[in-house]
Amino acid sequence: MYQMTIAELAAGLKSGQFSSEELTQSYLQRIKQYDPELNSYITVLEEQALAQAKAADQRLASGTAGPLTGIPLAQKDIFCTNGVKTSCGSKMLDNFISPYDATVIEKFNAAGAVMLGKTNMDEFAMGSSNETSFYGAVKNPWNTKAVPGGSSGGSAAAVAARLAAAATGTDTGGSIRQPAALCGITGIKPTYGRVSRYGMIAFASSLDQAGTMTQTAEDSALMLQVMAGFDERDSTCLDKAVPDYTANLNDDIKGLKIGLPKEYFAEGLDSDLAKVVEAAIDEYKKLGAEVVEISLPNSALSVPAYYVVAPAECSSNLSRFDGVRFGHRCDDPQDLEDLYKRSRGEGFGSEVKRRIMIGTYALSAGYYDAYYLKAQKVRQLISDDFKQAFKDVDVIMAPTTPTVAFNIGEKADDPITMYLSDINTIAVNLAGLPGMSIPAGFSKEMPVGLQIIGNYFDEARLLNVAHQYQTVTDWHRRMPEQFA
Ligand code: GLN
Repeated sequence: MYQMTIAELAAGLKSGQFSSEELTQSYLQRIKQYDPELNSYITVLEEQALAQAKAADQRLASGTAGPLTGIPLAQKDIFCTNGVKTSCGSKMLDNFISPYDATVIEKFNAAGAVMLGKTNMDEFAMGSSNETSFYGAVKNPWNTKAVPGGSSGGSAAAVAARLAAAATGTDTGGSIRQPAALCGITGIKPTYGRVSRYGMIAFASSLDQAGTMTQTAEDSALMLQVMAGFDERDSTCLDKAVPDYTANLNDDIKGLKIGLPKEYFAEGLDSDLAKVVEAAIDEYKKLGAEVVEISLPNSALSVPAYYVVAPAECSSNLSRFDGVRFGHRCDDPQDLEDLYKRSRGEGFGSEVKRRIMIGTYALSAGYYDAYYLKAQKVRQLISDDFKQAFKDVDVIMAPTTPTVAFNIGEKADDPITMYLSDINTIAVNLAGLPGMSIPAGFSKEMPVGLQIIGNYFDEARLLNVAHQYQTVTDWHRRMPEQFA
C-alpha cells in the first residue's frame, strides 16, 4: 500500500480494498521502523491519527468522502495544529502547544485527511539542508549521509521514504522545490497569495507560501485543491476563484512554449546534472513542446536581494518571541532586559540569530535606503524579467538546484555557499510566481529535479505540464531501496 499515490489510495479506500484505519496503521508501522534512521518527524500522532482514520472510514461508508478522506498525510511543523506541539524546528517553541489550527490544517481536517504527525524542518524555515533544526538533521533516504534539502526536508524525506502518502511544505526561497528535487519527489509552490498563511508561522511574510510535497503531479493537484482559496484572516490571500486542478491534467501539450533561461544553465551548474535536465527537456520536445532560449538578466541579483529582504522581514516577525508573549523563557530572569536577552539567546539557534542580526542592521536608520529599499527595487527588476519572458513563453524550465544533494556537514559552516544552493529557486519567490519541481532522473545515483515556473495563478498549467511528463517517464515512481 505504501507505494501507492494519493489517487490510487483514494480509489482503494473507496472500493473497500482497505480501510483508512489499516492504511494509517501501516504508515505508523513504517514510521516506527524507518524514522529513527531518517529523523523526518518531530511529532508522531498515533492516537489522533487512528481516531481520524476511524472517522474517515465512517465518512467513506456514508458516501460523503472526498478525494483526501482517509489519506494519511504529514504536516510541516510550521503549521499551527490545535492541541498539538508546533515547534517550527526551534527550541524557542519546543513547549508550544498551539491553541488553534492554521487555515491549511482546518481545510485538511474538513476534507477528512489523517494527520500522521508533524515533520522536521530547518529552524523557523531558515536553511537549505535541514541541519539547523533543534531536533537534529534529517537524512536523505537516497543516501543517509546526504542532506534532504531544506527547509521542508522532513516532509521531503518522509514522502520519499513513503512514511506518508504526501506532505505539506512551505517555500520562502525554495524550501518546497529544493528538498523535493534532492529527495526525488514532486512539489509545487503556488503563486503568492493562493494559499492562506494564517496559522503558518511567519518567516518572511512577503515571500512565504505553503504548498505540496507528493509523489506525483496528480497528487499535488488533489492536495492543492484542498489548500487553495481565499481566507479573510490573511490579508495577502487573494480572493480569486480556485480552478479544478485535476480537470486539465490529461490535456496534451503540443505547441507548449518552453523558455530556458540561459542564466540558469551557466557556470556553477554541475555538468552531469545538466545532462539529466537536458534529457528531460528533450522528452518535452517529443511531447510536442517548442523550446526557446530566453534571458532573465537580473538573475544573479536574486540571492543578494533575498538575503536582505528575507532577514529584514524575519527580524521583525521573530521579535514576538520574547519569552513574555511567545516562546521559551529563561530561568530566574534578573530584570526585563535579562529576560529578553537570555530567553532569545537560549531559544534561537545560530542561523536564526545571524538572520535577525542581518535584518535588524538592514532595517536600521541610515542603512534602510542603502539595503532594504535597494533590495526592494532589485526585486521589482526580477519580477519585470519574468513579466517580459512570459510575453513569449508559457512556462520556464530550469534545473531546480545546481547540484544533487550534498553531504551533511559539507556546507554547514559556510553560510554563503549554503545560501547559493537556492540560486535557481529564489527569484520565483521574489516575483511571487508559482514554481514546481519534478523528478527528472538521477546523477551520481542521486535524484535530480526539473523546475517548471509558471505565470501568476497558472498552477493548473504547471500541474498539466508536470503530469504529461509523468505519463511518459517513471522517475517519480522510483523509491530508495533501503526503505522499500
Ligand atoms: N534556503 C532559503 C533560506 O534559508 C529558503 C528557505 C525557505 O524557503 N524557507 O532562507
